[in-house]
Amino acid sequence: MATDPAKPLGLDPSKCFIGGAWVPPIGVETLPLINPSDGSELCQIARGRAGDVDGAVAAAEAALGGPWGRMTAFERGRVLARIGALVLENADELATLESLDVGKPLKQARADVTALARYMEFYGGAADKLHGQTIPYLDGYTVYTLREPHGVTGHIIPWNYPMQIIGRSVGAALAMGNACVLKPAEEACLTALAFAELARRAGLPDGALNVVPGLGAEAGAALASHKGVHHMSFTGSVGVGKLIQEAAAQNIVPVTLELGGKSPQVVFEDADLDAALPFLVNAGVQNAGQTCSASSRILAHVSVYDEVVSRMAERYGAMRAGPAMDDLDVGPLVSLRQKEIVEGFLTKGADLEVAARGQVVADAPAGGAYVAPTLFAGVSSNHALAQDEIFGPVQVIIPFTDEAEAITIANGTDYGLVASVWTRDGARQMRMAKQLRAGQVFINNYGAGGGVELPFGGAGLSGHGREKGFEALYGFSTLKTVAAYHG
Ligand code: ADP
Repeated sequence: MATDPAKPLGLDPSKCFIGGAWVPPIGVETLPLINPSDGSELCQIARGRAGDVDGAVAAAEAALGGPWGRMTAFERGRVLARIGALVLENADELATLESLDVGKPLKQARADVTALARYMEFYGGAADKLHGQTIPYLDGYTVYTLREPHGVTGHIIPWNYPMQIIGRSVGAALAMGNACVLKPAEEACLTALAFAELARRAGLPDGALNVVPGLGAEAGAALASHKGVHHMSFTGSVGVGKLIQEAAAQNIVPVTLELGGKSPQVVFEDADLDAALPFLVNAGVQNAGQTCSASSRILAHVSVYDEVVSRMAERYGAMRAGPAMDDLDVGPLVSLRQKEIVEGFLTKGADLEVAARGQVVADAPAGGAYVAPTLFAGVSSNHALAQDEIFGPVQVIIPFTDEAEAITIANGTDYGLVASVWTRDGARQMRMAKQLRAGQVFINNYGAGGGVELPFGGAGLSGHGREKGFEALYGFSTLKTVAAYHG
């Protein structure tokens, strides 16, 4: 392949990773993987299909019946910790690969590597910490519960944060002793393959993690509907999330869905604007806005509205978008298709006031998927740009008059993933935290540094189930009650 960083990582993108080995897809077909910074072909990736998914599920089943299934919880933890150490040892290569593949500026890719390592450390430490219980019961009985893996877990992940999502999803599943089949996105799958190779080198037994690259409608659909899969986790669009839930329903398989959001930051009149400003903007444009938990709506109290608009506009005016490797504020979008979607939203916003636009650098390659970051002001909360997930570097500012209206607007979309409130008033902080419809609420910050320890998930169209933190371990395991009668 054209990219050097892949070499030391030992991945073969034209193959699937099944049963601990690089296996060509049965159809020996490949797909081009495009560099979104310039439109060039990075390499060819395997086009896995149903037969390859069958092989991966069989390898996972075999792992559960083999050394992986027999490993103690603390040994699993050690393997995960070793994977985390190898991730850090190969941080530069992984970051470069992610940056080339996704188009994210290098510093953002480096942060993703650190997060991946932290997931491995966290779930490595957690692997032997989730215990069953004994339950006082009738005379002559001893009753206890066993916390057990589901078995084979399916993981379909998107292209925006491959490493982070592998960390939170595969990390937690492996910690509980599941064997995983991972279908990365066709737009960005190199670090998923690199991760599998690092995990092998760290001593993860064969078949505990299998990776089948390919198209969503082929490899993805085959995995979601596979009868040998006992739990499905999916991160991606609402439309595909519905398909995954429908497919899993046919096999009565539990699903965890994380489907994005329209997350607000609510800025009250007593907010510390100096502290808020970087969060208000960065949470919208990080990873070119292609973040499930992006803050795409800023709600500003009328008394500070003008100041919020002008100060955010100042930052937007200075923002530069360009090739991922140039490590500017914003990279390209992941693909020309995604650029088209975002430009469609910008057209829908033609009636709105543009408070400011960043610029695409003059020497950005013509084939790159660049969109100038755009800030809209004075937006009404029922406008499409204030309701729909855009997944691009676009934010809207919506004025409000009081706390009740702020809650109505903040909760007034079909989503409910993340929200934040900026105010010095402690009582208001508590009221808002209770009333905001979101899986995570931040007070006087946004994202809390990404915290692998912090349970994450949504309400409404944002999905259901919780990933990250200790909470994810419940989702990736099941409980058996044992009632022994001994008289
Ligand atoms: P986006 O629209 O942002 O690309 P998607 O929801 O389409 O997000 O993709 C997220 C993941 O879901 C990718 O790995 C993709 O291949 C997969 N996917 C897409 N369509 C399907 C499908 N019909 N069944 C299963 N997985 C799918």
